[in-house]
Amino acid sequence: MIRTLKLVCAECKETFNAEGLIYYRENFISRDFQDVELVCSKCHQAWIDKWKVKSAEFKELHDNLYVNLELEDGTYFEELDCTPMDEHEIVALGVDSPDEAQKAIYKIYHAWDLERKANIFERCDFKDEFMRTTFSCATYSGEAYEDVAFRFTMNGDMQTEVPVPDYIKEQVAEAYEIYMMIHQTK
Ligand SMILES: [Zn+2]
Repeated sequence: MIRTLKLVCAECKETFNAEGLIYYRENFISRDFQDVELVCSKCHQAWIDKWKVKSAEFKELHDNLYVNLELEDGTYFEELDCTPMDEHEIVALGVDSPDEAQKAIYKIYHAWDLERKANIFERCDFKDEFMRTTFSCATYSGEAYEDVAFRFTMNGDMQTEVPVPDYIKEQVAEAYEIYMMIHQTK
């Protein structure tokens, strides 16, 4: 049986002609072909045009990420739920948005994420040699120290053979505590 489907846009309600491809609204509820919400190319283009990202400011609250998002046309979303997906280099949003916009937002997110992690360790390793323990570490911004000998004084202060900033010392001390715990139980 061959049936007919009229191409009617769910947005502007007008009939349209498809030029090689059909846009439709993703909707996991529609099971029947008739229920699929088609979108004409004019309305699709309007959607793409609307989603020109002007600015995106991120903040993390209770392990959830939110974005204050402004579009070029002045549309503003406050504290929109968002999820960065590094493997696809997009930020998935809690509202309908084109891939291009999600990619643009990911670029802004990535820069923000690197900046906030700039001073945080990406790696930290220890080496125990006779009478000498050294650490090697690097932060997300690429600041690195290799094989730096250190020790703790009687009152718990950390001394290093070359000067390192306090934020490095603090993270080395934390990492070393964990290292010792693992090491001693072996
Ligand atoms: Zn339309």
